[in-house]
Amino acid sequence: MNYRHAFHAGNHADVLKHIVQLALIDSFKRKDSPFFVLDTHAGRGRYLLASEESRKTLEAEDGVMKLMSQPKLPEVVERYLKAVQADNPVGAMITYPGSPLLTAQAMRPQDRLAACELQPEEAAALKKLFAGDARVGVYEGDGYEKIRALVPPKANGAKIGRGLVLIDPPYEGQDAEYIRILAALKETFERWPQATCAVWFPIKQRRTILHFLRKATALPYKSAMTIELLVRPDESPLRLNGSGMLILNAPFQFDRVIGPALPALKQHLGEPGASTRLDWLKTAE
Ligand code: SAM
Repeated sequence: MNYRHAFHAGNHADVLKHIVQLALIDSFKRKDSPFFVLDTHAGRGRYLLASEESRKTLEAEDGVMKLMSQPKLPEVVERYLKAVQADNPVGAMITYPGSPLLTAQAMRPQDRLAACELQPEEAAALKKLFAGDARVGVYEGDGYEKIRALVPPKANGAKIGRGLVLIDPPYEGQDAEYIRILAALKETFERWPQATCAVWFPIKQRRTILHFLRKATALPYKSAMTIELLVRPDESPLRLNGSGMLILNAPFQFDRVIGPALPALKQHLGEPGASTRLDWLKTAE
C-alpha cells in the first residue's frame, strides 16, 4: 500500500494546524476567482493510522479521535472532522489526510495547489496520490527554494491574485529553521505582497518562540495573528506541549471564524493546565 504508519498523525498539533488551514481555504472560496496554495513542506499526503501493533502509541487517539466522539462541536471543527472522515470508510478511522490532500479535497476546478517535498520517498508517494489531478503540481526538492519559481502564481499564463503559502517544517534544526522561515516570508512578500502566509510552530516552552514572533512582525504585511493551543503547561523543554499558527495577511475577521474552535480544543484535547491564545500582533489599518 502507498501508505506509511505515522504515530503522530492526527495529534493535537495536526488538529490545530489543519483546522486553521481549512478555515483559511474556505475563506478564499467565498469568491469565484481562483486561488493558489503553495505547501512548502507537504509530506506524503496520507498516513496510515490503524494497525494492531501501533495502537498503543497512536497519538491520534488523544487528538482527532477524541474530537470524533464529541456530539457537538463548533462549525470550523466539525468541518475539519468531516474532511478527515471523508478520507475513511463510514464509522472507521484508518487513514489521516495530510495538508496537501486536505487542500485538494477543498479546492474547486479553477484553484491550484503546488506541493513541495524534500524526501524522495515522500515526494514519490505524493506524486502517486495526485497523478491525474491537473490542479495539483508536486515538486520534489527544497520547498523554501521553490518559492522563487512558484510565486507569484500563474495558471495558463494568467496571474492568480489570491492564495496561501503554508509553511510546516519539521524543525529539526531549531533556530536555523526560524532563520529560513523568516527569509522565505520576506521573499514571498517581495514577490507576492497580497499573499496570506501560515506558519506552523511547535511550542515546548513558549518563551523560546518570542524572538521568532518579534522578528516576524517586522515584515511588510498588513496583519499578523497567532493562534495557539497548549495541551498542558509549557514547563518541559522535552515534550511538544502545544503548537501555534502564525498567520500573516489573514482574511477579514478570521479571528471570528477560528476563535470558537479554541475553547472546544482546550476542553477536549487539554490536560490540566491547558490553555489557548489568539493574539493580533499587527492589525490592518
Ligand atoms: N504539512 C504536512 C501535513 O500537514 O500533512 C506535514 C509536513 S511534515 C511536518 C514536514 C515534511 O517536510 C516532511 O515530510 C519532510 O520530509 C519535509 N521537509 C523537510 N525539509 C524540507 C524542505 N526544506 N523542503 C521541503 N520539504 C521538507
